[in-house]
Amino acid sequence: MKENNYLLLRKRMIEEQLIPRGIRNKRILEAFENIPRHLFVPEEKQSYAYEDHPLSIGWGQTISQPFIVALMTQLLEPKKDEKVLEIGTGSGYQSAILAYLGCKVFTIERIPQLAERAQQVLESLEFKVEVKIGDGTLGWEKESPFDKIIVTAAAKDIPSPLVHQLKIGGRLIMPIGGAFHQELIIADKVTNKEVKKKSAGSCIFVPLIGKYVERK
Ligand code: SAH
Repeated sequence: MKENNYLLLRKRMIEEQLIPRGIRNKRILEAFENIPRHLFVPEEKQSYAYEDHPLSIGWGQTISQPFIVALMTQLLEPKKDEKVLEIGTGSGYQSAILAYLGCKVFTIERIPQLAERAQQVLESLEFKVEVKIGDGTLGWEKESPFDKIIVTAAAKDIPSPLVHQLKIGGRLIMPIGGAFHQELIIADKVTNKEVKKKSAGSCIFVPLIGKYVERK
């Protein structure tokens, strides 16, 4: 498919999937229009990259549905120059959106092949994103504290290192729940002892796998 056709698919995705569902932030919509999402998925799936569902990217993992990426981005309220930690790099697409918005993005992926592929795509598009292979439930101590944290895999609770590595006044977005039902949680760190949580609705993500994940 030609680049022009992909641009048309992106415009249609914005008109049909994002705007009607409440994504109104101009900068976020601009990021979705300009970032070639199809480059973040395996070649044989590129023509499906702009459809209204998640897509397999190999190793049992998925790139989230466009609307979910947009919703999480909008809820995160990313500002220019903010330091953002992402857990679950996957394809690298969410990182690209945040980098486009001017954030300093640090992202961790536990599957080396995915991390490497994401890094290559991000570099080829000239996005400056720090990609690390490892267990994101430990956070990224050396680069902390973060203004914002976004976790793109689900667990029963927020891994405690992530709460510690979030600035006071900072926000964390994460799907919380079991394998079949999760809520997208907005967690605002009010003081060192108080985190205020609210739900932004239900969602389905692949599981977060790591040291600071409760097993019940
Ligand atoms: N944000 C991604 C979606 C990723 S899917 C995108 O834009 O494409 C979730 C990813 O989280 C998977 O790639 C999975 O391997 C990864 N993951 C799961 N547990 C993890 C952990 N503890 N640390 C880092 N990555 C993890």
